[in-house]
Amino acid sequence: MSARQRYAAELLALHAEFGADEVLADEPQNRYATPPISAAPDPAGATAPPATPPNSNKPTNAGIPLALESQDAATASARELAERCNNLEELAAAIVNFEGSTLKATATNLVFGDGNSRAQTMWIGEAPGADEDRLGRPFVGVSGQLLDLMLAAIGLDRERVYVSNILPWRPPGNRKPTTAETEIFLPFLERHIDLVEPEILVLVGGTSASTLLRRTEGITRLRGRWLTYTSTRAGAREIAAMPIYHPAYLLRQPALKRDAWRDLLAIKEKLRDG
Ligand code: URA
Repeated sequence: MSARQRYAAELLALHAEFGADEVLADEPQNRYATPPISAAPDPAGATAPPATPPNSNKPTNAGIPLALESQDAATASARELAERCNNLEELAAAIVNFEGSTLKATATNLVFGDGNSRAQTMWIGEAPGADEDRLGRPFVGVSGQLLDLMLAAIGLDRERVYVSNILPWRPPGNRKPTTAETEIFLPFLERHIDLVEPEILVLVGGTSASTLLRRTEGITRLRGRWLTYTSTRAGAREIAAMPIYHPAYLLRQPALKRDAWRDLLAIKEKLRDG
């Protein structure tokens, strides 16, 4: 292999490591380039006014795709779309049509939810992985198999629970979601929770717990306690929420299964009492 080929191979490996592992187009595109101003020729020969008047306070974002505009603009758009949805089908369609994130471009399938949408408990993970992305269902890979065992341990299964994620699209290369991504998709998830109306939320892993509880502590501190989820939507009710260890974490740290078992028993007890 020549030095040039080796350099190209190393660069490719670096891209893959950073999560750029999907080909979107044959040619690279500079999405930050200023779009050309297409001014029609002025028949009278007069000078066209500048696209943005000097000293204008107006935002100069015309033509910039929503996904690149700003987090606030994308979140506001997500909130507006989510508010209009009256059922889960409309919500799934709204997420598919949402242009405020680039995650959709690298994912294969929307991973919206699974199980019984009238269940007492809604279990919310972090984001789809490769298996979930391929099949369009949450928790179907190795973590999902452990989650199913955890459910079975307290007499539950996918027909008795509803399962979803903080992000509905797989982040490229299975990287951790950024805070910007979790915030942008939060309005959709809040509407999702409103429509399912669970009595209990089980927050599977640190990303789920910190995003939905608006807390900065890690999962080790948050797990095993009954906390309260309050939607940022006006008029939304409060829901008892239990953060638990993510099954992927338990697979790496089997000694923590003991604590996880305690948390599952607390959930079982609450279901029995409720
Ligand atoms: N991990 C998650 O958090 N969610 C999934 O759907 C799969 C793996």
